[in-house]
Amino acid sequence: MPFAFDALVIGAGLAGSVAARELAERGGRRVLLLERRPHVAGNTYDCTDEHGVLIHQYGPHIFHTQSRRVFQYLTRFTDWREYEHRVVANVHGQLMPVPFNLTSLAIAFGEEKAERLTRKLTDAYGAECRVTILELRQNTDPEISALADYVYENIFKTYTMKQWGTTPEQIDPATTARVPVLLSTDDRYFQDAYQGMPAKGYTAMVEAILDHPNITVELGCDARSRLTPEEGGLRLDGQLFTGTVIYTGAVDELFSHQFGQLPYRTLDFRFETHDKTWYQTHGTVNYTVDEDYTRITEFKHLTGQRLPGVTTIVKEYSRAYTGADGEVPYYAIINEENRALYERYRALCQRYPDFHLLGRLAEYQYYNMDAIVAKALELCDRLV
Ligand code: FAD
Ligand code: UDP
Repeated sequence: MPFAFDALVIGAGLAGSVAARELAERGGRRVLLLERRPHVAGNTYDCTDEHGVLIHQYGPHIFHTQSRRVFQYLTRFTDWREYEHRVVANVHGQLMPVPFNLTSLAIAFGEEKAERLTRKLTDAYGAECRVTILELRQNTDPEISALADYVYENIFKTYTMKQWGTTPEQIDPATTARVPVLLSTDDRYFQDAYQGMPAKGYTAMVEAILDHPNITVELGCDARSRLTPEEGGLRLDGQLFTGTVIYTGAVDELFSHQFGQLPYRTLDFRFETHDKTWYQTHGTVNYTVDEDYTRITEFKHLTGQRLPGVTTIVKEYSRAYTGADGEVPYYAIINEENRALYERYRALCQRYPDFHLLGRLAEYQYYNMDAIVAKALELCDRLV
């Protein structure tokens, strides 16, 4: 029997959803989208908790991008609430902006010393500049070096140990570079041109993306029970499937971990609801010197929801991913060895001419949402 679909997409996160929409709309393809969770939107999924607070089930998500194309694309499917995320570090009870900036400098060292350090930093790197902590630690000027040590010890070391189980030197330098030292008083967490939150939430935005007559979504369906990669080709429900397949899940899983498991960090989220209007002053407070959790986020700051007398927060605890049932592989651990292992799996996929790996899991990358949308659009530019 011929298939009722020309294209198969696995995973209804942002990657799979944008790809499905593009294939359906621009390509005129009939798309089957399989998602194993009981909902769409992947890790961006948001919903209302039992106290009526809009929460992000898989960790706080704030949209930001430099890409006009990505922003305009999503604007087809959502209005935006204007929101610029601001984060403070709790350093032994003292709160200071993160990324560490000139305001943090004054809080940590006092106005007078901060002024002198600012002059030195500006001479060394230029005004309004972004410097990574690893770069700053290379500076040999004794005062800048002491400052670098302070920032390293109080902002990066413990947080990174909690998040990655190892020191900042031992992780991919691009990871700590996401949060530079800023030689300005800009206290926003992101400096991108476009920032905001989908006005009705991410789930509603993704539902709108998937609302197309050529898209059929099946929830609660693990693609591995339907799709089998074999020597002679990909089989869908036992029959050879020669249409386009876009896979956004973990690639080692698809091949039954035959070369071993790709390493990831997972998170435990502990949600707490408090009977007060606000729990903390900022959307997120990073615990950079103590506590077992890395950060606390209070959702109402992000979503703008007005709800007096009640608020929900989430604490994030990071640990090694074991692959146990129910664990989610949130962060790829990017290093040479893991990249090489990933490449072995990717090579297996190249046997299938119209099979495409897309997304944070399938590409084993540390992508933000905007990068995912950009990648999905670029892939579909080529496919349709
Ligand atoms: P996912 O959202 O993981 O979607 C993959 C989907 O595939 C999942 O729904 C999964 O269930 C499904 N799937 C997997 N295997 C199968 C299978 N075999 N069969 C069927 N379905 C399958 N980005 C930002 O831009 N801003 C932020 O503030 C931000 N905060 C973040 C906070 C945390 C804690 C984390 C972990 C990430 C954050 N991100 C943020 C990144 C963002 O979550 C990702 O860029 C984006 O969600 C990735 O989309 P995706 O579709 O590639 O993956
Ligand atoms: N980081 C840190 N202290 C902070 C914030 C970030 O050490 O206060 C480091 C840490 O290694 C973290 C990385 O910078 O994993 C990237 O931070 P980001 O907030 O971008 O991580 P995400 O939101 O993706 O978890």
